[in-house]
Amino acid sequence: MTRELTCIICPRGCALKIELEDGKILSVSGNSCPRGEQYAKDECCNPQRTVTSTVRCEAGRMVSVKTDRPIPKDKMFDCMERINAATAKLPVHIGDVILEDVFGSRVVATGNAE
Ligand code: SF4
Repeated sequence: MTRELTCIICPRGCALKIELEDGKILSVSGNSCPRGEQYAKDECCNPQRTVTSTVRCEAGRMVSVKTDRPIPKDKMFDCMERINAATAKLPVHIGDVILEDVFGSRVVATGNAE
């Protein structure tokens, strides 16, 4: 089986071709540097994403948040449920931790709310 991906690690956007057999990577081609090979392996075997969203604060205001590191892609829905169920205490400042230990990440504020 062949899978094609565009490397998103840098703006060059190399077109990657990954040869797979029984879920194992046989080869990666099209990458112009080793980071592209690693990206292809991660994306095929353990895809991860940074989650960005908003969380409700006391008094009903919303503040933007994100996970401070990527989480497994298949946990994004569960992560959103945790964020939607949370209420941040005011004041909130950029970098404040809103939720601890969400699939190995913390959810931090990317905005301010007084
Ligand atoms: S393979 Fe290397 S050069 Fe190509 S897009 Fe990825 S990081 Fe950039």
